[in-house]
Amino acid sequence: MFVNQKIQKTPIYLVDKEKKESNGHFVQPLLLIEMSGIAGLYNPVSKYIGVVCTTRKELEQRLLSKNLHIKAIPEEQYRFCNSCSEFMQEGYYFETDDSTYCSRDCVDKKVGWKKYLHLYNSGLAFWTTWYNA
Ligand SMILES: [Zn+2]
Repeated sequence: MFVNQKIQKTPIYLVDKEKKESNGHFVQPLLLIEMSGIAGLYNPVSKYIGVVCTTRKELEQRLLSKNLHIKAIPEEQYRFCNSCSEFMQEGYYFETDDSTYCSRDCVDKKVGWKKYLHLYNSGLAFWTTWYNA
């Protein structure tokens, strides 16, 4: 559906301004999707696209009216899956070629589960998180 359109994907946290950080304020990792004439938020877990506007400014204003604001996720706290390109903050990591996969399916497609288990036993591949609470 988004053929030939340049899509910019920025991993962000949606932060609730009303809640204090010390109380564990509401933080949700999402993708900010921007392309010509569209700005929206995408939830990679539920695969849900919400709050779609025409510009990022309009999107931020609409969020602000609900006391929500966008905070970019630091680069070291996320990866994209080497198989399906999905945004991820935890997943399978292969030290052998610095590749990452979001699910067993994606490991199976690109590497093979047997090979993963072999590397896992050698400590060269494992499940990890990049998320800092
Ligand atoms: Zn994947």
